[in-house]
Amino acid sequence: MRWELEESPEQVAFRRDFGNWLEKTLPQGWMQAVDNSDKNAFEKIKAESGWNFIAWMGTIGRSLYAAPLWPKEYGGMSGEPWMQQVVRSELARYRLPAFGPNLLGVGLAGPTLVEHGTEEQKGRYLRKILTGEEVWCQLFSEPGAGSDLASLSTRAVEDGDEWVVNGQKVWTTLAQFANFGMLLARTDPEKPKHEGLTYFIVDMKTAGIEVRPLKQITGSSEFNEVFFTDVRIPGANRVGAIGDGWRVARTTLMNERTALAGISLDPVSIFGGSRRDPWTSYLAMLPATRPATTRQKLVQTWIENEIKELTAFRANSARMKGAQPGPEGGVNKVFNAEYNQRRSTLAIDAAGLNGVAWLPSDKDAESRTTTFLRARAATIEGGTSEVLRNQMAERILDLPRDLEIDKGVPWSAIRRS
Ligand SMILES: Cc1cc2nc3c(=O)[nH]c(=O)nc-3n(C[C@H](O)[C@H](O)[C@H](O)COP(=O)(O)OP(=O)(O)OC[C@H]3O[C@@H](n4cnc5c(N)ncnc54)[C@H](O)[C@@H]3O)c2cc1C
Repeated sequence: MRWELEESPEQVAFRRDFGNWLEKTLPQGWMQAVDNSDKNAFEKIKAESGWNFIAWMGTIGRSLYAAPLWPKEYGGMSGEPWMQQVVRSELARYRLPAFGPNLLGVGLAGPTLVEHGTEEQKGRYLRKILTGEEVWCQLFSEPGAGSDLASLSTRAVEDGDEWVVNGQKVWTTLAQFANFGMLLARTDPEKPKHEGLTYFIVDMKTAGIEVRPLKQITGSSEFNEVFFTDVRIPGANRVGAIGDGWRVARTTLMNERTALAGISLDPVSIFGGSRRDPWTSYLAMLPATRPATTRQKLVQTWIENEIKELTAFRANSARMKGAQPGPEGGVNKVFNAEYNQRRSTLAIDAAGLNGVAWLPSDKDAESRTTTFLRARAATIEGGTSEVLRNQMAERILDLPRDLEIDKGVPWSAIRRS
């Protein structure tokens, strides 16, 4: 690391303890291979030990390290933001996922339940989120409501001790595998759009839920359409008060931004080169015959990487001093999403013909192109760059608010497509 944070003795001790736990828990030689930038040794240890995401979720989920900020009684440490920071930085250093396959559970649903859930809900769901035993999805976006999420139409109607839900969600990541979903539904159409919403936990196996996977440009199906037909949800699955769903959803959305802001492409995996000093080796790798423009783009990418790391460093050092995540979550999300697109485009350009055609055995070329295609979604998922820029303008720069023609108007009276 080029910019070293000055850590307190308590922080140094915590980092050392977590390192010791990793040393005891990971396959032998894993950490040394990473520290020595020995990619071959690392891949060999990973393959021979049978390490996998799912098992790792269980291992870290049963330790206290998966969610240091969560209450002790639900599998966390009742800790400080800097503890989460230390854990995430060590995980990233040793090529381990911060969230694993249950990103939406650990990153979004868990923090929402910690803040707004009942004691019964926390006791029932939180530990199984951490261990990955129960995977979650986020049922917010609809065909007619994405950026303007509060205009959504899926209806939940109270019927005795239950709610009956009808409507459609879309873009629902992992719905085809999820055990539970965070559902935002309209419970009072006569109130203005933000006031008539309620937040629910939905068991994805409930009768009346139909999940249809959507095929993406990468060939995989990360997300789905989800249809609700007379789906019955127990009253005990409501999170927060009736009509207070927007406030609960904002906790989910804020955590989503922070979780996605941290996701960045690994420069080594898209360009190749040594992990210890990837940028110097990229410059050396570029053959002299490549166009000068590619060289210039590479240097520009290096400059942007420095900016990204400095911004992350600033946010991390604030967190190590005890500050709560601030508006930098949105700034980092916008910057990282667009930077990842530029960087993966450059990787394709620099690869020449190999960027568009390759032998089936050339897994590096395949993963480079998949990364390039997947990066297109980064400026849409978790809030589009345009909408986040509006929010930054309003909340950070104090500029006038975006036009809200439907402010205070009952949802039922708003014109929709
Ligand atoms: C890979 C991926 C995974 C996703 N996973 C989930 C999920 O698990 N659960 C879930 O609920 N949703 C999910 N989403 C949906 C995501 O949150 C929405 O796509 C996003 O909020 C944008 O909504 P939209 O697609 O309806 O676009 P729209 O809101 O229709 O926007 C269309 C265009 O108009 C622009 N625009 C809209 N409003 C404004 C404005 N006020 N000012 C300036 N420009 C504006 C947008 O920036 C965009 O360019 C996922 C999306 C992607 C790409």
